Amino acid sequence: MNSRPILLTHASQLLTLRGEHSPRRGTQMRELGIINDGALLMNEGKIVAVESTDEVAHHELAAQAEEIDCRGKVVLPGFVDSHTHPAFTNPRLIDFEKRISGASYEEIAEAGGGIRSSIRGVREASIEQLADHVLNALREIAAYGTTTVEAKSGYGLNFESEMKSLQAIRRAAEQWPGTVISTLLGAHVVPPEYRSDPEAYVAIVSEQMIPFVAEQKLASYVDVFCERGAFTPEQSARILRTAVEHGLKTRAHVCQLTSVDLGPLLEFHPASFDHMDYVSDADVALLAESNTIATLLPAANYFLGLDRFPPARKLIDGGAAVALATDYNPGTSPTSSMPFVLSAACTHMKMLPAEAITAATINGAWALELQQRKGSLEPGKDADVAVFAAEDYRELAYWFGVNRCEHVFLGGIEIRR
Ligand SMILES: [Zn+2]
Repeated sequence: MNSRPILLTHASQLLTLRGEHSPRRGTQMRELGIINDGALLMNEGKIVAVESTDEVAHHELAAQAEEIDCRGKVVLPGFVDSHTHPAFTNPRLIDFEKRISGASYEEIAEAGGGIRSSIRGVREASIEQLADHVLNALREIAAYGTTTVEAKSGYGLNFESEMKSLQAIRRAAEQWPGTVISTLLGAHVVPPEYRSDPEAYVAIVSEQMIPFVAEQKLASYVDVFCERGAFTPEQSARILRTAVEHGLKTRAHVCQLTSVDLGPLLEFHPASFDHMDYVSDADVALLAESNTIATLLPAANYFLGLDRFPPARKLIDGGAAVALATDYNPGTSPTSSMPFVLSAACTHMKMLPAEAITAATINGAWALELQQRKGSLEPGKDADVAVFAAEDYRELAYWFGVNRCEHVFLGGIEIRR
């Protein structure tokens, strides 16, 4: 903890994102609550004041604070990356190169790539090796202005290696000043040894993994990949129902490759539905009536070279609350950069820069049910703050492939790049 209060002054634009008590929808997503010549005072890990630079001078703590001049910079809430898969050991370079040459999934698998290579890596790794990888990922993610990360297991795919993955996430989180929310994704895909009997694997997830995770408090959420080739809607419902019965919260990967009926899964009050490339019009209307967030992951579409991206306009204009996340993972989205995701959201999904920033901050916080503490700059909230070298917030989504993040405060602790 910093011993002195920290005072950011003279920000060209300070984006507060303040004011709503529900996830932001429709035109609310364009309201950033901007203070020009903004100032932010933080102390003991919390935000104390968010005002103009003139006003903040009257605050009693301001006089003793360490001041950082933010002229020519944009100050905003640290990004909330609400969807990552950091518990893996190796990059998937065979997949990458083979896919460029037009190889099929089968050919990639035969060449030793695909998810099997990630499973092998995680099963063979020690907790320490896995925790080191997760910690490196968290540090890299934070360098781009992210202060809260959701982290999933999902490359172990047996009881021992899924629990090892969650323990590694916990160990890494203890060494990182930001906030980590853990998710059990035992139901990522059916592992090779259960291909002929997927129900037996669903039973392991439901009867062994979920009860243990709940008892040991190894994760807050249970996630499931509900998709052709992964888990059916019925299997997904069984897994999410079991999670709720054990007091765990839910989220789900849906509609990435094909459309699935979201109504039955909404019964488990998932915090978010993620991907949503093939969401139906009827389900957009359902989401507009619920607090379940639609979390879009355009970096995966970019990396896979797809022409089609998630239908952000249809979702936002239809009243669904939209969040953005990296989907950091070795197979389809090896990026730790939320600013890159903002760029992809604007250029490929026609989100406005303000909508993208809202989706990456306050709506991301809603997607992790952390809206009371995260996602906006308001007195009493956690001092999770990012400072970018930009005069105008639109630059955050405009410059791509470069990192303009100059300061990141995680619970008031600055990490140096
Ligand atoms: Zn994912």
